[in-house]
Amino acid sequence: MKPGRILSGMRPTGRLHLGNWVGALENWVRLQNEGWSNYHMVADWHMLTTGHDDTSRLQSDTHEMVVDWLAAGLDPEKSVIFVQSAVKEHAELHLLFSMLVSKARLERIPTLKEQIRDLHLDEQTISYGHLGYSVLQAADILLYRATHVPVGEDQVPHVELTREIARRFNHLYCRNRAPVFPEPEAMLTRFPRLRGNDGQRMSKSAGNALMLAATPDEIAVYVKGAYTDPKKIRANDPGRPEADPSDGHPGCVVWEYHRKFTPSEAETIARKCRAGELACVPDKQHLTRSLADALAPIRERRARWADDPDAVREVIADGNRRARAVAERTMDEVRGAMGLASTAEVPR
Ligand code: SF4
Repeated sequence: MKPGRILSGMRPTGRLHLGNWVGALENWVRLQNEGWSNYHMVADWHMLTTGHDDTSRLQSDTHEMVVDWLAAGLDPEKSVIFVQSAVKEHAELHLLFSMLVSKARLERIPTLKEQIRDLHLDEQTISYGHLGYSVLQAADILLYRATHVPVGEDQVPHVELTREIARRFNHLYCRNRAPVFPEPEAMLTRFPRLRGNDGQRMSKSAGNALMLAATPDEIAVYVKGAYTDPKKIRANDPGRPEADPSDGHPGCVVWEYHRKFTPSEAETIARKCRAGELACVPDKQHLTRSLADALAPIRERRARWADDPDAVREVIADGNRRARAVAERTMDEVRGAMGLASTAEVPR
């Protein structure tokens, strides 16, 4: 695939975990190194849709998250790292796009329904901003005229809405001119979500996350507590690496991690496990060593960036400048296409 431009962001939640690396960061770094034009946004306005009552940690969480992005291998020379709220054009484009989408269309977005269910929200009282967060996402993506959006399966409906908005805008306002917006494509993450060591979805709030900068000792404790096959009691009992619906066994977490971090050995490990030729304790020790090796470069880079907070702030300030320059050009075209006020005074 010819490299294009990607826009991808995260809500500022502070330090990141292994699931963030496998689900997003690793992919961002790969694309960056393959010559894609990467824009990575700290989605602080999105954070407000479900957490507007306490903003006391926004600044520190932003800083810690960006340190982890840099530790993971994002190169600020190649990738633009910026904060959404520092580029006001996101708000302007969100406002304009909000005229192009019906309330009913937003209510059909599956992730909104899931949030209402998971956060025990009252559908009648969710905020105007929360209802429209997928329109803000469309503005985030199209402001940089991203051609691709790296996402998990659950985010595909958002990219579809973004495409609809781009089409609608181009159809309404670009009849006699070149389209302002591309229709970006969803780029599915290669490895599905990594589970926490208890077999459930990994999250910091659930207490089942392995932090990206974990030490070898922390990794050992984490893996030692990992869910395996409850029916494999003795070392030479046959085990079940994969899920078994007959008793609801969701699959051995250790083997899932092997598939990710020691893929060339995963099939042999599974075969030996099934045959009762492999015990869980040595297998967990093997995974611990592999994980510690895989995370060592991230841990070392993190220590360097964490020691230099001014350098991190400069990365963000530079990214904000670069993002703003692109956003201003897009908005000039948007206003021109829509016949809105002249923007001659907008600095380029
Ligand atoms: S031997 Fe390994 S793959 Fe098999 S159940 Fe134990 S930890 Fe899981």
